[in-house]
Amino acid sequence: MKSVLDIENISFRYSKDIAIFDNFSLTLREGEIKAIVGPSGVGKSTLFELILGHRKPSHGMIRSESYSQVFQDPYSSFHPTYTVREQIMEVTSMQGYESLLVQMGLEEAFLDSLPHKLSGGQLQRCSILRALLMKPKLLLLDEPTSALDNLNQLDIMKLIVSHIEGMGVLLITHDGDLARWCADEIITLKYSETDKIPLQP
Ligand code: ADP
Ligand code: MG
Repeated sequence: MKSVLDIENISFRYSKDIAIFDNFSLTLREGEIKAIVGPSGVGKSTLFELILGHRKPSHGMIRSESYSQVFQDPYSSFHPTYTVREQIMEVTSMQGYESLLVQMGLEEAFLDSLPHKLSGGQLQRCSILRALLMKPKLLLLDEPTSALDNLNQLDIMKLIVSHIEGMGVLLITHDGDLARWCADEIITLKYSETDKIPLQP
């Protein structure tokens, strides 16, 4: 299968003494889900910033196909003064949204609301809806289900898995059960206690 993300031997550090990544590599192919797990502060979100090009590795190479992303906090993913629908229409054709809306347990009226009128769980489902309607080759999920309750979490991941064809998913999660349930591979980022350099698998 075609790769949608290639990370080759990247190194990155914010400050001189702490390496966040040291010669880290990862390949993700169409149809694959890989989970990134590890303690708070180990560099999970930094990895996404590197993939998105918001930060540059000091060494190595990152290549990715078209992507969309879902962040942990849905309120930070939407502009407060435009309706959810306006913001989804800005980046997608809305094609096929009706059936996704139903599958996600969302109501049409939610789309015409301002973001802060919705609960965290409702808005996060809107964020996932937008990400799927963008039809990305690479879907980046940073703790996407922490705003959802347990029952919804699994349903939403099942829905994402059902759309996996032609797409690769990189999932940051604290939820080991969720990772084991859906991921083809679990990548555990660690830092060593002595030198604080994350050990790569
Ligand atoms: P995670 O998502 O795994 O919790 P992060 O990628 O957010 O971890 O952060 C990894 C480490 O980098 C943390 O120690 C954090 O304090 C540090 N860090 C994150 N952002 C910055 C920044 N903008 N400047 C300096 N250090 C940062
Ligand atoms: Mg993080």
